[in-house]
Amino acid sequence: MPKPRLLSGMRPTGPLHLGNLMGALENWVSLQDTYDCFYSIVDWHSLTTDYADPSGIHDNVVEVATDWLAAGLDPERSTLFIQSLVPEHAELHLLLSMVVPVPWLERVPSYKEQQKQLTGKDLSTYGFLGYPLLQTADIIIYKADAVPVGEDQAAHVELTREIVRRFKNLYGPVFPEPRTLHTAAKRIPGTDGRKMSKSYDNAVYLKDDPETVRKKIRPMLTDPARKRRTDPGDPDKCPVFDLHKAFSSKETREWATQGCRTAGIGCLDCKAKLIDHMLERLAGIHARRPEFASRPDTVWDILREGSKRARAVARATMDEVRAAMKIDYQTS
Ligand code: SF4
Repeated sequence: MPKPRLLSGMRPTGPLHLGNLMGALENWVSLQDTYDCFYSIVDWHSLTTDYADPSGIHDNVVEVATDWLAAGLDPERSTLFIQSLVPEHAELHLLLSMVVPVPWLERVPSYKEQQKQLTGKDLSTYGFLGYPLLQTADIIIYKADAVPVGEDQAAHVELTREIVRRFKNLYGPVFPEPRTLHTAAKRIPGTDGRKMSKSYDNAVYLKDDPETVRKKIRPMLTDPARKRRTDPGDPDKCPVFDLHKAFSSKETREWATQGCRTAGIGCLDCKAKLIDHMLERLAGIHARRPEFASRPDTVWDILREGSKRARAVARATMDEVRAAMKIDYQTS
């Protein structure tokens, strides 16, 4: 039996950090065993918010792909591709835009939230309103059975399912309704205790070598109650402990909890253990990444080859879509 198909994507906004790894990429790697995975670098989605300055997109595409390969995405098993190299996504997006009511898009929670958050950008654009629809096209053009998402993206998959039903009512069954594969949310704080993010300048990147990881973690913010070595602390108030939860063994977490609450260990001891566990977990990435980073042409070739594979699937779906919508003159 063929494996069920799965689709997910990342915007090329820059090199990936530990938040991206633990929030999505690690899960993507393991999903390759059970799914026929299509992983897309969604460059058009970057333009929905960064249309005024697209200068970073080209280099970020290769950065993201290099991180993917270093993390263990395997182009032999998964289709790794660039959204804009499969222009059929745009055709399907246009056709869906004929049938999807505007209020369905306006009520997507991230629409208003992001407009509020990204105040320096004019997001009153048609493209920004339509980005969940483009996401729908990205998913259903491959007839994906499943979409791995975090909590904040669940509404988008629900919208996709609604659109699939509307399409079916109007034109017949072309697309399956994709299910949501929830990714357990792990809190990955940055070095200043806020959510890890490139824009906060608090991230540990997959491209950081072991020495850089050490340099970033050592001065990391801890429970403010531990002003002196002899002050007991509370791991639940410490971002370093959140990283222990993501990277360290149960024994180490117990050791840190006990030592912190009794002031039996210092924060530098605690961080040193965390660094050991992190570097152990990142060892594969650190071993593989320099090789891919030194061969960007190979990385582009992998993406172009994957895009060809993706395009063949997307073309076949679009033949069905045009037939269902009675505009299949191209193929008749
Ligand atoms: S001992 Fe560890 S958990 Fe406790 S405050 Fe220091 S770094 Fe945080």
